Amino acid sequence: MSLWLADSLGRAPAAPAPQDWRARLRDWADAVELVPDLGQRVGSLIWFRGLATCFGLCATALYLSPGFQPVPGASGPMLSDAQYDEVRSQMITPLALGADSGHRMGSTDAVQPLRQTPERPQIELNAQIGSSDTLARALSRAGVSGGDVATITSMVGGDISGGVKPGTRLDIILGRRASRDRPRPLDKLAFRARLDLGLELTRPGGVLSVRRIPIRVDNTPLRIQGVVGDSIYQSARASGAPPKAVQAFLRVIVGQADLGSIGAGDRYDIVTEYRRAETGDVEVGDLLYAGLQRARGKSIDMLKWTTGGRTEWFEASGVGERRGVLSAPVAGRMSSGFGQRRHPILGYTRMHAGIDFAARYGSPIYAVTDGVVAFAGRHGGHGNYVRIQHGGGLATGYAHMSRIAAAPGQRVRRGQVIGYVGSTGLSTGPHLHYELYRNGATVNPLSVKFTTTAQLAGADLAAFRAKLAQYKGLRAGQQDRFAQRSPAPSSVPVASGK
Ligand SMILES: [Zn+2]
Repeated sequence: MSLWLADSLGRAPAAPAPQDWRARLRDWADAVELVPDLGQRVGSLIWFRGLATCFGLCATALYLSPGFQPVPGASGPMLSDAQYDEVRSQMITPLALGADSGHRMGSTDAVQPLRQTPERPQIELNAQIGSSDTLARALSRAGVSGGDVATITSMVGGDISGGVKPGTRLDIILGRRASRDRPRPLDKLAFRARLDLGLELTRPGGVLSVRRIPIRVDNTPLRIQGVVGDSIYQSARASGAPPKAVQAFLRVIVGQADLGSIGAGDRYDIVTEYRRAETGDVEVGDLLYAGLQRARGKSIDMLKWTTGGRTEWFEASGVGERRGVLSAPVAGRMSSGFGQRRHPILGYTRMHAGIDFAARYGSPIYAVTDGVVAFAGRHGGHGNYVRIQHGGGLATGYAHMSRIAAAPGQRVRRGQVIGYVGSTGLSTGPHLHYELYRNGATVNPLSVKFTTTAQLAGADLAAFRAKLAQYKGLRAGQQDRFAQRSPAPSSVPVASGK
C-alpha cells in the first residue's frame, strides 16, 4: 500500500487492476522469503530466521493444544469385603474350587461326631485283564482278598490254563464284611474265560461255586475271494479279510511269485481258521489255504498240510504225482544250445556250458526241481547267479539274473521262484543262462531227466485232495449260523463242527 501511495505522489494514479496488486504482493513475498527452505543456505541469516519461524510456529501449536489429560468415565460401585463374599457364594467359581462358598461353620457342642460311618452293603465294580496280566493279579488289584483269589484260581485254573485274553472284562461284586479290619468277600465274579466259555462264580450259602456257561462257537473256516485292484493287500482288506489272514497269505504267496507282478485282474482266494461265537466275537486263526488265479502266468494253489510230523505248504498242482523236470526254468524260448559256439561278446569260439533262454526282463525264474540253494550272489561272468544242489551229484545254475530271490542254504521246491531274468555279468541282453552240473562238471541240461518221488501218496494224498476240495467248496464270506436262532447259552451244548 505504501508503494502504491508513493507512486501516487508523482502522477495521478490509474485504477489498479486486481491482478496487478496480487502480483506485486507475490513479488514482495518472494523478495522477503517468509518460509525459506531449511535444506538450503544452511547457516545464513535467512536460514536462522526460517528456523526461528519454525520454532515459533511449533511453540504456538503446542501452546494452543488442548492437553493430554485422561478422559474420565463412569466406574462401578466398590464392593466391601462382606458384600464380595455374598456375591462370590453365588458365582460359579467356588464350584470349580470345591464349592467353597466362603462361609465356614464351626461345630458346636450340639454336633456329635459319628463313631462309625455306615458302609455300603455291596460294591459293584469292573476290572480288566491287562496285557501280560493274570486273573489273580487283576482280582487282587480290584480288592479281592488273597484267600478268595487262591480259591478262585484253584476252582477255574483248568478253564483258563491258556491264560485269559488281555482286555477281558471282569464283573465283580464284593459283599458285606463282618468287621472293618477284614476284606470284603467276593459275592460274584463273571467273565469270559475263552471264546467258547463264560464263567460265573457266586457265593450261595457262603461257599463259592462256579457255573460254566458254554458259548456256541462256529468253527467253519472263513473263505475270502476277490479281484486284485491296485494293491492285493488293500483289495483283500476291503473285502473283509482280517489283517492277520492277509499278512499270512502274502507270506505264503511271496515264496511263489513276485509280489510286484501281481496286478489288477488276478483273483485271490484265502481260507483261514475262523472261530465265531454266538455272541458275535470272532477269533482269526491260522491260514489254511492260499490261492491266486493269475490273469497271465502261473496260478498258485497252496495248501497247508501236516505229514510225517512236519507242517508245510504244498503247491496243490504238483503234489502226489511223479514228475519230470520242469520243461523250462523260465517262460521263454531256447535261444542258444549247449556246445561249442562263437561267444557273442568275447568274439572267439568257445564252449557254451549251458543253454540260454530268451525271456522278458523281470520274468520269474523257477527252480526246476527240489533242492538246497548252494550259492546265491554275484559270480563273475555269470552276474547274479543261483546254484541249487539237488542230490545224486546233480546241481543246476541260473545266471544273469536281475534280482535274486533265494538265499544260500534255503530249501526250494520245484517251481519255486528263485530270481528274475536280467542281463548282469557277461550278457548282451536279458536272458537266462541255465546250467546243469553232474559231480561238479557241466553237462548238457537236455541230456538229464529229473524225476522226483511223490511228496504225498496213498491215504495222505487222498486226505490232502479231500481237504483241498472242501476248502474250494466253501461259500465265500461269513457264514452266519447264529443269525436265525435266539441265544440260549446254558441249554445248548457247545458246537464244535469241523
Ligand atoms: Zn549262456
